[in-house]
Parts: sequence; C-alpha cells; structure tokens
Amino acid sequence: MAQLSDDCFAFGGPMMTVDEAVALIASRLTPVADTETVALSEADGRVLAEDLIAPLPLPPFTNSAVDGYAVHGTDLPAEGEKVFPIAARVQAGMSPGALIEPGHAVRIFTGAPMPEGADTVFMQEDVRLDEAGDVILPAGLKHGANVRPVGEDIAAGSVVLRAGQILRPQDVALVAALGLTEVSVRRRVRVAVFSTGNEIVSPGATRGPAQLFDSNRFMLRAMLARLGCAVTDLGILRDEGEAIARVLAEAATGHDLILTSGGVSTGEADHVKASVESVGSLVFWRVAVKPGRPVAMGVIRGAAFIGLPGNPVASFVTFAHIARPAIRALAGATPETLLAMPLRAAFSYRKKPGRREYVRASLRKGADGTYEAEKFPREGAGLLSSLVDTDGLVELGEEVTDIKPGDVVRFLPYSSLL
Ligand code: AMP
Ligand code: MG
Repeated sequence: MAQLSDDCFAFGGPMMTVDEAVALIASRLTPVADTETVALSEADGRVLAEDLIAPLPLPPFTNSAVDGYAVHGTDLPAEGEKVFPIAARVQAGMSPGALIEPGHAVRIFTGAPMPEGADTVFMQEDVRLDEAGDVILPAGLKHGANVRPVGEDIAAGSVVLRAGQILRPQDVALVAALGLTEVSVRRRVRVAVFSTGNEIVSPGATRGPAQLFDSNRFMLRAMLARLGCAVTDLGILRDEGEAIARVLAEAATGHDLILTSGGVSTGEADHVKASVESVGSLVFWRVAVKPGRPVAMGVIRGAAFIGLPGNPVASFVTFAHIARPAIRALAGATPETLLAMPLRAAFSYRKKPGRREYVRASLRKGADGTYEAEKFPREGAGLLSSLVDTDGLVELGEEVTDIKPGDVVRFLPYSSLL
C-alpha cells in the first residue's frame, strides 16, 4: 500500500538538485545586453561591461617608497659607512631635477620621483648626518631597495578588470588611479516583485486577526537592492489564479525577472504555478533543498520568473541559492563560487540523503580557541528569529545523512550570501 506523506518531496514530478537548477538557470538566461556609462562615484556594485585595459602604467613613474636619501646602487658602501654630500632635495610632486652625480645623495621623500641615475633609497631612520651636513650611509642595503619602479603594480596595456566583474571599492580605486572618470557597465536588471496570500497584509495596513504582515517582500527588495537590481514593487496579490496570471503577464513587459513569494506549493490556495503556466511555461518547480521545498522557475513572454516559497526562511535560502545566481546571470556577472568556511560542528543532526539542507548556525569560540558552528535550537521555516540571531548557514550536501559534534562542516556566513 502506498505510504501517505506530507513531505512534498514524496510527490511525483521532476525534482532537481540545487546544482542542476543553477546550471539550468545559467543555460536558460541571457544577460541583459544594454550597457550604460556611469561616473566613478556611481560605479560601485555595477557589472563591468567590457574588459578594462590600463591606459598607463602604475605607478606612472619610478618613485621613492620612503622618506630618505637616494643614491646610485653602484655607490652603496660594501662595508662600514660612507659619507655622501647632499646634491639636491626632491619632494612629492616636484620634478626629479638634474642627473645625480656618482658619489652624491639626494634628499627624497615618499612618492617623489627618483632622480635620474639614482636607484636605491636609504630610509632616513637608518642614516646619520655629520657636522658638515653630509649624510653617512651604512653598509648592507640591497641595490634597488625602497624604490617603486614604474609599472611595478600595473603594466600599461594589461587587462586589469574583466567584463562581468561586479565592481568593488578597490576596483573603483584602480579605475580612478588609471585616470578614468567613467566606466561602461551593464544596465541594471529590472525585477518586479510581489507577495501572494490572502493572509498577508502590508505593514501599516490594518491587520485582521488571522493575518500576517508581509515580511518577505521587504527582505527580497533589500536582497535585490544589494544585487544592484532596479525593483518594481507590485505589492501583495490575493490567492486568485486569474489576478496573478494577469499581473504576471503585465509585469513580463518591462522586467527581466518577476520574483514572487508564496503560493508555489501544492495546496488548494497555491495558484502561482498554474498562473505561470497559463501565461508562460515552467522550467522547474521543485528543488531538493530544505528549507526551500517548492521553488519554481519559469519563463513568461521573454521574462524570467522565480517563485519562492512563502515561509520566510525558505524564501531567504532559496533566494540566496537559486534567485541570486539567476540574477547574477541576468546581470552579466561572472558566476560566483561560494567559498564556505570549514568549521567544526557543535551539534548533532540527521537528514535524509538526496537533498541539500541549510542549517542556521551561529559562530562560537570552542575550548581550543577555534570557531565552531552552533545550530539554532529550533528548525521552523517561519522563524525569522532564526535568521536574525545567527551568523550564517551550514551547508549539508545531498550525500550527508549524519552530523556529529566535531565533524567539519561547510559554513556560509550571511555576508557571502547577501
Ligand atoms: P505558502 O508558500 O503560500 O504556502 O506560505 C507558506 C507560509 O509562509 C504560510 O504560513 C504563509 O502565511 C507564510 N507567508 C507567505 N507569504 C509571506 C510573506 N510575504 N511574509 C511572511 N510570511 C509569509
Ligand atoms: Mg500562500
């Protein structure tokens, strides 16, 4: 006799692993093609549209790395000390002056151009001045010390940033150092987002006794904003298939992605899947991930559709592991490999094989001073406190069935998922 089960994984139909779902998404989505030019001050977080080639070397001229005295390398004292008259003085921003004669030193400061002929700088802390004002240099300094040669950082003509790079503050610094005032980036991914559920009301509205304030939409909007998306908030839709289908069809024009939460399960009030199928097609609707369970992906008149589950923790996890790679693919960003930290588990856990599970966990210092992952004590997928009071997710792969304290697990800090 067939077993009855409330586990949606027990229902028939296609079921894929997270990796299969992400690979399928990457193969189905094409990046937005339009590009725009943005000023440096607006470049952080944008996706670089073309490889960036250095128009000049960095540093652009050979200069001193310290405050001190520049000399010819061939003049370095072999042993003992040697006295050098000071021929000139060069400060940052000055021209390097005349060629330095052998046997002479030049007083020089950090960032000042090296005088022609000089190739080694003594730090001022390592020298003495005699009564005549000449400088006494000790033996032992390496030829070429304390000099930053032209192009040692970046060679002119080299590719310094690749197309697909999501620009970070240090990337913006590099673009600025190269003297550029703007960069070519992909246009922002346009995302329409709405919540579903007769029981969901917006914060600020009057809440009936059996109603909840919408938290998902604000979480998803914040996550989308961090990914650089231009978001249209379509509010909350009631559990009515036709209304949902109408909004999906309308939103497909003018958006690259429609992102929803709730209504993708198999309950009577779950209309989102059928609505997608009435105006477009579903690519998958179940992924072997917990929390997460039903998470749908589809295509509606050229726009991508992703339907996340309504439970806030399931919404969070599936956004991070399904929607985020999809949005990066749409944005034209290089696919990312999440770098999990190997940490000792401070908990026991059993799970079914064949699905991936994400366990909410906090970092704590173990007895030997190294960090370990402590599991949040409760597991409900609706517990927002479980996301707020933890530091990240422990990823338990499809093959894992049993975790014991002390086992090494993969920890993903929230900072790597947001
Ligand atoms: P569903 O996926 O529609 O079956 O919803 C699963 C659970 O998540 C239900 O308890 C819903 O009340 C809750 N839920 C759905 N949408 C939201 C939302 N936008 N904010 C907070 N909770 C939600
Ligand atoms: Mg619902």
